[in-house]
Amino acid sequence: MTENNHYDFFVIGAGSGGVRSARIAAGHGAKVGIAEGNPLGGTCVNLGCVPKKLYAYAADYHMDFEDSRGYGWHSGKPLFDWSVLKAKKDNEIARLNGIYGRLLEGSGVTLHTGFAEFLDAHTVKIGKDIITADKILIAVGGTPTRPTFEGAEHVLISDDVFMRDEWPQDITILGGGYIAVEMAHIFHGLGHTVNLIYRGPLFLRGFDDDLREHLATEMRAQGINIVFDDNIKRITANDGGKDVTLESGKSFETGEVIAAIGRTAKTEKLGLAKAGVNTNKDGSIPVNKTYQTNIPHIYAVGDVSSMYQLTPVAIKEGHFLADDLFGPEGTAKTVQYENVATAVFSHPPIGTVGMSEADARKAGHDITIFKTSFRSMKHTLPGREEKTLMKLVVDKASDKVLGVHMIGLDAPEIIQAMAIALNAGATKAIFDRTMPVHPTSCEEFVTMRTPFSE
Ligand code: FAD
Ligand code: NDP
Repeated sequence: MTENNHYDFFVIGAGSGGVRSARIAAGHGAKVGIAEGNPLGGTCVNLGCVPKKLYAYAADYHMDFEDSRGYGWHSGKPLFDWSVLKAKKDNEIARLNGIYGRLLEGSGVTLHTGFAEFLDAHTVKIGKDIITADKILIAVGGTPTRPTFEGAEHVLISDDVFMRDEWPQDITILGGGYIAVEMAHIFHGLGHTVNLIYRGPLFLRGFDDDLREHLATEMRAQGINIVFDDNIKRITANDGGKDVTLESGKSFETGEVIAAIGRTAKTEKLGLAKAGVNTNKDGSIPVNKTYQTNIPHIYAVGDVSSMYQLTPVAIKEGHFLADDLFGPEGTAKTVQYENVATAVFSHPPIGTVGMSEADARKAGHDITIFKTSFRSMKHTLPGREEKTLMKLVVDKASDKVLGVHMIGLDAPEIIQAMAIALNAGATKAIFDRTMPVHPTSCEEFVTMRTPFSE
């Protein structure tokens, strides 16, 4: 083995977690290499957060065009062109891929292009390159889980949404998580007829129940056809589309079916057995508090191992690891998994942080609920009936705000600041004495005086 092919730290996967970890480790003086078989930046940049948000912005214009009339604007019927959006999106992603490449190069990280697999616990093969390393980080993320019902080969996944520039009018989405509701917004906003099929009684399991119910009501009011408590049993392809049969026996024809039923860790072809790295049944990798696998010099961060599949979490884990392994004593900041704020880019969008009402009760808190539902001022002139919902979950004994939940315009932007307040241990009294910003929606968070329920 030549000295050139030996690294202090070798990272597999140049996504959110891997790139951050590699750059920080190199900044601490380590000799770092990274392997990536796809365009740089990982899921978030290429097939996740970024293209999804760009498409969600495109979808938002639908309502903006309609509502502009209420403000005196006149124009012809707006026309949407998928191929323009797709091409513009591709250009932007290519720009970001370039930035990631320059960031790695500028930090002194050596890129090995190709998919890596372990040959043993210190050796990794990428194409013809054989690499050895003292420490290895697995940051390979995940891939959309494919359903297994009859005809599942006819189903598309979220990756496909970002690759096609032509879509049939009628789209069916399977699932009730983040991706399903975000895709429903995108396709509906871009003018498609959307069916959403979810196996449970209400989608977004784990979110506060009021948010879940509110979103279902608003989506139905927009004309999205939501079917709860059912699942797809079988799909057959017909001339122009797909025939879908549900477990309930109902059947219908649709243009395409997109499954958004979770993601599976991308560990199948990694050769983990050769390195002795254990996996969970679902292929994800168990790690300890410092992201060590069962093999002490092999680590894992991000979607492949984390309980949260979110970009900022992968980045913080990767950053901590690099500081912990290569930084001066005391540099590493433990990742805080409490009060992880999150947003769903549905319409209306959701922003949420801290405990749901149900979780707070389950945890034994004696709580007061403050809640308000109102029509945003922006919707008044266009006559849009859509409502915003805001909710605080407050611990009676300590007066601490345990959870902040919002569904309505700008909720994802507002919730970040609420997360800071929760992390600072803000009480309801502090919310109350904070001066409102007027006229805004978020001022309601500091003006809710009367408890809704206890
Ligand atoms: P990834 O970003 O997936 O990176 C892993 C990288 O490893 C990939 O580039 C892959 O090609 C590479 N790789 C895999 N195997 C190998 C191998 N053997 N050799 C070399 N390279 C390999 N999160 C948010 O916080 N906000 C959002 O709005 C959001 N929206 C999303 C929308 C969608 C449609 C999806 C699918 C995800 C979204 N996420 C969002 C989740 C977010 O994208 C992930 O949590 C994040 O990308 C995880 O980062 P990671 O570094 O763990 O993995
Ligand atoms: P989620 O885990 O969020 O949701 C999966 C959904 O699929 C759930 O409703 C689940 O139902 C359902 N499901 C699971 N298995 C089946 C099955 N066999 N048949 C039918 N339905 C099934 O996964 P997503 O794919 O939506 O997204 C993956 C992850 O990516 C998210 O968890 C999130 O962490 C991240 N992400 C984040 C975003 C953001 O921050 N805005 C946006 C998009 C993705 P049930 O609840 O009943 O188990």
